[in-house]
Amino acid sequence: MLHLGFVSHAIFPSTAPKSYAFARRTSSGRGVRTCERARLRPWRAMAVLGVEKTVGRGRERAPVEKAQYDAIVIGSGIGGLVAATQLAVKGARVLVLEKYVIPGGSSGFFERDGFTFDVGSSVMFGFSDKGNLNLITQALAAVGHKMQVIPDPTTVHFHLPSNLSVRVHREYDDFITELINNFPHEKAGILGFYNECWKIFNALNSLELKSLEEPIYLFGQFFKKPLECLTLAYYLPQNAGEIARKHIKDPQLLSFIDAECFIVSTVNALQTPMINASMVLCDRHFGGINYPVGGVGGIAKALANGLVEKGGKILYKANVTNIILENGKAIGVRLSDGREFFSRSVISNATRWDTFGRNTKDSQAISCTI
Ligand SMILES: Cc1cc2nc3c(=O)[nH]c(=O)nc-3n(C[C@H](O)[C@H](O)[C@H](O)COP(=O)(O)OP(=O)(O)OC[C@H]3O[C@@H](n4cnc5c(N)ncnc54)[C@H](O)[C@@H]3O)c2cc1C
Repeated sequence: MLHLGFVSHAIFPSTAPKSYAFARRTSSGRGVRTCERARLRPWRAMAVLGVEKTVGRGRERAPVEKAQYDAIVIGSGIGGLVAATQLAVKGARVLVLEKYVIPGGSSGFFERDGFTFDVGSSVMFGFSDKGNLNLITQALAAVGHKMQVIPDPTTVHFHLPSNLSVRVHREYDDFITELINNFPHEKAGILGFYNECWKIFNALNSLELKSLEEPIYLFGQFFKKPLECLTLAYYLPQNAGEIARKHIKDPQLLSFIDAECFIVSTVNALQTPMINASMVLCDRHFGGINYPVGGVGGIAKALANGLVEKGGKILYKANVTNIILENGKAIGVRLSDGREFFSRSVISNATRWDTFGRNTKDSQAISCTI
């Protein structure tokens, strides 16, 4: 997810990053502070950067919608909806613009003959009721929603060359026993590698997760959990392949670790950051993989409903073609039908290619401080 207006790669539930200060309630508690600098000046010269294409110049402009927003979110994938709901629950006026007819993006759904099908995601992390990594549970809870889930007893069943068959059981001990049974000569190596994964996972899981680019938050976490932060800092530059090779020699087992990492990152172990690998390879046993009753599309539906319940707004068939810049700042968006919406901050959950095009110059211009 790409954010314009404030830089943050991750939006985690709980308190808002400092950059959301505009959304703080007034001392009376009845409203949201308005920001003088955010007042609309539609008569001033504005630049536009293409999202998909540039709206033709000289065209009659549709009337600017009167309402202003604190944040406009482009795209109603899970990322955009989490950003939008987190802002809405803190009192910000949020508008989500989605070009399709339903929310969800790659975690969306379609219906045929009374059945609902997932279009993409179906192996769902983040649904447990313990620890700090249950981010879907937390995101839904923030807007007063909860989904019933069905625990998945086996995450993956690997069928690899030389008839290697390994099931990744939800129960960690069952998985490790099955793996060791396949590679008894590598028992110490297997335990060594996965124990290192758990060390990292436990450090991550002990932290309250928010934006890793928020210095004050990181500083605070360091004082609360110095050992855990140092553990993560130590592993930050390392990849799973290097760590695996410290413990394991058998090439077939190393190929299995590659397959494990491919599921996490779609690249092999030597290209997979150790922290990412550890998070997934352990959380599938800690929080587990859980399938939401009604389908994965229910997550986006619940977030979209929660957004509206918290006063936010979502428009479908709203294809953003331009991000409107004023003095280098993103102040609004234009749709393919000519409608324009303005806000203090624009958050793009469209892909980086949809957002910035392939033009590096545009990319640098659009990501400048707002
Ligand atoms: C086939 C497939 C299988 C997957 N399986 C899993 C899995 O099992 N487990 C897992 O954890 N992850 C899985 N993923 C990954 C996961 O689905 C995605 O990482 C996640 O859904 C991405 O969410 P997002 O909100 O960042 O983006 P997206 O879901 O891509 O949402 C972007 C939204 O923005 C909208 N949009 C784009 N441009 C514009 C515009 N100009 N104007 C307005 N709206 C716009 C799009 O219509 C879309 O709704 C899978 C992905 C795919 C494709």
